[in-house]
Amino acid sequence: MLRVAEIFRSLQGEGLFAGTTSLFLRTTGCNLRCWFCDTPYTSWEPEGHQRPWKDVLEELLADDCQHVVITGGEPLLQPNLVPLTHELQAAGRIITIETAGTVYRPVAADLMSISPKLSNSQPPVERSARWAARHASQRCKRPVLHRLIAEYPAQLKFVIDQPADITELEEFLDAPPPLPRDSVWVMPQARTNAEIIAKSGWLIETAETHGFRYSSRLHIEMFGNVRGR
Ligand code: SF4
Repeated sequence: MLRVAEIFRSLQGEGLFAGTTSLFLRTTGCNLRCWFCDTPYTSWEPEGHQRPWKDVLEELLADDCQHVVITGGEPLLQPNLVPLTHELQAAGRIITIETAGTVYRPVAADLMSISPKLSNSQPPVERSARWAARHASQRCKRPVLHRLIAEYPAQLKFVIDQPADITELEEFLDAPPPLPRDSVWVMPQARTNAEIIAKSGWLIETAETHGFRYSSRLHIEMFGNVRGR
């Protein structure tokens, strides 16, 4: 079974494949609770249904879209992602998995799109003391992160809320063993186009100074933060 929130066609909005028409499988359920989560229906208030993974596979293969993006929530929490992704790859689909990089599974993936969470994602204790503590202890699993990077083509996307976050990002990358800087993208923490515009100026400059790549969030620019787009 797979717990599925939604399946939809849209444009990939972030990173290496930005602008690529893709079929999205969004699983529901997450082991983290970022305060800025833009899909709370997969984390804070998880929705969705358990579906046989072969039925999900059939629905995905019924669409001829070459790129399949598996996102969440945290998709790697779902054990049946392993056979599903291997079947998809055998059928010629190009698979991106979007993960926070805290869970390992031997999935098939052409791009592991990892968004490690910095301390700026921490939910306030007032919102949930239980989740604040759990988020703090779970958000960084460095051995998992290194394993994913070693076994898959990978990009690292960091959500940046304010300039001070860059100092923490540098420390995170340099902690031994260091992470590959040429795979690093920085993206504005934004759920509206106005927030993207407000942050993109300084973040583009900062990315250039530090040797990172900047990624916007095309799907928000084009559609707003709406479900199923
Ligand atoms: S890891 Fe992603 S899905 Fe989970 S709470 Fe954070 S932003 Fe939401």
